[in-house]
Amino acid sequence: MHSRGICWFSAISATVLMALTAQAQVPTPASVLGHTPGDDYYLANYEEEIHYFHEMAAHSDRIKMFTVGKSTEGRDIEVAVISSPENLARLEEYKATARKLATADGLDDAQALELARSSKVIVHIDGGLHSNEVAGGQHSIALAYKLVSSQGDPEVDNILNNVILLLWPTLNPDGQDMVVSWYRKNLGTRFEVSPMPWLFQDYVGHDNNRDGYMLNMKESQVVTKTEIEYSPVIFYCQHQTAPFPARIWIPPFSDPISSNISPYVRSWFNVIGTNMTAYLDAHQMPGAISESEFDNWYPGFVDYAGSFRNEISFFTETALYRYATPRFYTVDEFPRDMQDLKALTMYTTPWQGGWWRLKDAVDYMVAASMSVLDTAARYRETLLYNRYQAARDNIRRYTQEPPFAYVIPSVQTDAPEAHLLAQIMQENGITLRESEMGFKANDREYPAGSWVILMNQPYSAMAKELFEVQRYPAALFTESQKPVDLPYDVTGWTLPLQMDVRVDAISDPLTEDQLAHLKLVNELDPAPAEVTGAGATFVVSHQVNNSFRLVNDVLASGGSVAFATDQTKTPEGMEKGAIVIGGVSRAAIGDLSKKYDVSVLATDKAPEHNIAIHKARVGLYRPWDPSIDEGWTRWILEQYGFAPISLYNADMRSGGLRDRVDVLILPDMSQRQLMEGFRDGIVPGQYAGGLGEEGVDNLREFVREGGTLLAFNQTAATLIPLLSLPVNNVLEGVKPDKFFCSGALLRVELGATDRPVTWGLPDEPVVMFERGPAFTTSASFHGAVLARYPQDSNPLESGLLLHPETIEDKIAALEVPYGNGRIFLYGFKPQWRAQSHGDYKFFFNALYKYEQPPFAKPAQEEKKEAKAAE
Ligand SMILES: [Zn+2]
Repeated sequence: MHSRGICWFSAISATVLMALTAQAQVPTPASVLGHTPGDDYYLANYEEEIHYFHEMAAHSDRIKMFTVGKSTEGRDIEVAVISSPENLARLEEYKATARKLATADGLDDAQALELARSSKVIVHIDGGLHSNEVAGGQHSIALAYKLVSSQGDPEVDNILNNVILLLWPTLNPDGQDMVVSWYRKNLGTRFEVSPMPWLFQDYVGHDNNRDGYMLNMKESQVVTKTEIEYSPVIFYCQHQTAPFPARIWIPPFSDPISSNISPYVRSWFNVIGTNMTAYLDAHQMPGAISESEFDNWYPGFVDYAGSFRNEISFFTETALYRYATPRFYTVDEFPRDMQDLKALTMYTTPWQGGWWRLKDAVDYMVAASMSVLDTAARYRETLLYNRYQAARDNIRRYTQEPPFAYVIPSVQTDAPEAHLLAQIMQENGITLRESEMGFKANDREYPAGSWVILMNQPYSAMAKELFEVQRYPAALFTESQKPVDLPYDVTGWTLPLQMDVRVDAISDPLTEDQLAHLKLVNELDPAPAEVTGAGATFVVSHQVNNSFRLVNDVLASGGSVAFATDQTKTPEGMEKGAIVIGGVSRAAIGDLSKKYDVSVLATDKAPEHNIAIHKARVGLYRPWDPSIDEGWTRWILEQYGFAPISLYNADMRSGGLRDRVDVLILPDMSQRQLMEGFRDGIVPGQYAGGLGEEGVDNLREFVREGGTLLAFNQTAATLIPLLSLPVNNVLEGVKPDKFFCSGALLRVELGATDRPVTWGLPDEPVVMFERGPAFTTSASFHGAVLARYPQDSNPLESGLLLHPETIEDKIAALEVPYGNGRIFLYGFKPQWRAQSHGDYKFFFNALYKYEQPPFAKPAQEEKKEAKAAE
């Protein structure tokens, strides 16, 4: 340092000097990581990224690190809070104010306005959760460094003074490590840009962004819990896959959008998006597009669910090539109608082609994040006050109009499922109350212990969105029957229907007296379950999903289990297929009853007619072209104690399957994914291919030798010709203008009630139909029809179904005898995203070894014959 510098330093105050010195020492990413984020062929993994964040925190008072939870693989999930040192010193106070405004808690307008004026705005930004969209995690490093190291940049200063940034390096640490390690292994080989042959979240891969309200996965639980704790006004998530050749997709979204979202949130999507496009244009970053392609109808996106808590919760999609490998694009690669490079209202500056590097994606993301922070800083007071207004208006609305409340009655067929639904609502920020002495509403008596969700609370839009029936509003076809704006995801998800839990909307306001007898629920008590009666035989209901957890524990401990074939008394009433347990002590069954909230009836008179149930070895096909449906299925099976065995291509092709497993599940996959997998040359040889002819031959042998094969959805359709089954798929090759259902809840009629596989299910279950097949049978069919779409009525319960007549009276699920074994074909998803709890028994019942009763004529057929005879 030379003398002029010393002289200059001596002129400024000690405090400023210290601050400047501290900032000057923030190490660059390159000095710590050896690379700058965005460098060609380089990706920082999660450990390196976190290490760098801690280096920044050690050298700067603008950043603090927090651990907010654990990932599925047990990594610490860490979050950085970035703001001015003054704001960070008062973080807890600003958090409390944010929560107060977000919930409109005890505030009038004047007080809220005063708080909005004097407080800071909390903004969530993250590096994404789809780990093969690699730029997001790298962007977090670049954004943090820019904010923490900047000196005298008025834009950054304004942000740091007004905004408290909650920056998540990534929402999926496990996936970032998996993808980076896969890329590093292949870098410089001919497999440099190979897709990774496993899911980037252990169970659900890309569906980690479809778990936003159900909160099955640890990561979604941690994100939601933290979000509710910090009450950010904005929640912004980075994704990559812009509609080509655009360089980034930005809100406004395309329609439809839920009417349950606050108008403030809806309009801020548009303001923030439009500001972002202008910001990118001003920074010479062309190619931003809006509206096209992405709608936000499904509330399960993790980066959208917060909108039902009045957060402005959205994402962008920056262009992606593959990993950190650059790519050159010419205009003649563009779609025809984009080659003229013409500007559009929602595509203001067309991209002209050229190089696209990881650095470009990182720069676009950093600019987009800076624009969000800049908008938040400029409109701090309005945003905070709008957040208060959204809560205030929601509370007011449901003080004046129905539904005034939702009730989850305490008496349910499957009490633990009702309990789970209550718990999910609580985890979504909904306040629950419990009736102390029972009450009457809607001309119904609700017993004590029923849960009540009063709708005049700030985040109740989420309850309405999840409980009500969905009606998809958009026009879908042009006059020439060309589809337009088809839904991006499913169209109906109504949780009480999916979980088969009774929930009632209350249409009249509760009285003062009724309200006075509702007590606030802080900790949900477990559902009351006990062992009643006397005797060494124990009976549990087949209608209760958790009974399967209990059964699997009993079988594992050497106890005996049977399904009673006659109507038998259970704790839930008389039923067919009651589960009868022996060979365990009362103390042991008592423990299991408590563990799983399952009521048990002890008796000294075991039912006379039983089918003995034995533990089966359950295999699950796990393709190298990774299947999200496989992951969900594996997760559910693990949760319920079925201990699935993963069967890879080599297992499927090598034969002897019957020696290894008793039951084999093929998840929902496309025919190509199932049969061919990744082509040789796309991925290293050991990951190439699918089942192939050998695999199919082995499947045939497996079933002929007595194995049980289950196939979900598209896979069921694929199996029909492969195994020459006497079944037809009536939806084969049917175009969307003749039949369309991208995901809706349909009512089916249960058939073959003599088959154990249907036991425990209601007479008319609701199933998730998602681009599946629907069946008829050929003359030679002599199996059982398990479920059928109704003959004279529309099966639609929630969502969008075009041309219901196409599946009228068609079969939804069936059991096909084959050699000494059997094949179950499901034209729907009985395990959809681990939400369709009401349908789990459709496949749980098939996962045991037991003597099969002979096939009778399906009940439906008998009924029809009887009708014809009349
Ligand atoms: Zn994504």
